[in-house]
Amino acid sequence: MRAIAITHDDVDHTGRLASLQAVSAAEVIAHELEAPRLARDRWREPPGTTMAFRLIGGVLERFYRRFQHSPVRVSRPVRDGDALPGGWIVVHTPGHTPGHTAYYHPGLHTLIAGDALRSTPGGQLRFPMRIYTEDSAAAAQSIRKLAELEPQVICFGHGPVLRDAAAPLREFAEVL
Ligand SMILES: [Zn+2]
Repeated sequence: MRAIAITHDDVDHTGRLASLQAVSAAEVIAHELEAPRLARDRWREPPGTTMAFRLIGGVLERFYRRFQHSPVRVSRPVRDGDALPGGWIVVHTPGHTPGHTAYYHPGLHTLIAGDALRSTPGGQLRFPMRIYTEDSAAAAQSIRKLAELEPQVICFGHGPVLRDAAAPLREFAEVL
């Protein structure tokens, strides 16, 4: 079975999903709360209302609007704890978006974090970009939830892969 597992509906994560699905005929997996957003013909409105958003987000926003949102039907809506082929587990991580989902492989101790977390080029953990995070309290709770998995390897939407990740993630989650 071919499948494309989506963490969330943002232009830098699903910008060409409709084309990819068309050429691959793959199943599209996403959280049931994110599926309605994927089915729309427009991107979400960034939640930021701060000065930082008006300065930085405004520029990004004009850039993002140049990419059309092609509707995609999620063929397999999932929820927290669902088991996927290949040994992956759905980990609902709301905050950045309400239906944001990470994927964890217990056998490989590997986490696909999406935008629930970021890493810097130097390997430091960071909170998701706040101007695009709809519920910061939920995002912090999601990071604490990910820390409990004690992943050894974390792959991010933004930033290099982090190895030996369990301890740094636990320390990061503790000070949120
Ligand atoms: Zn995002």
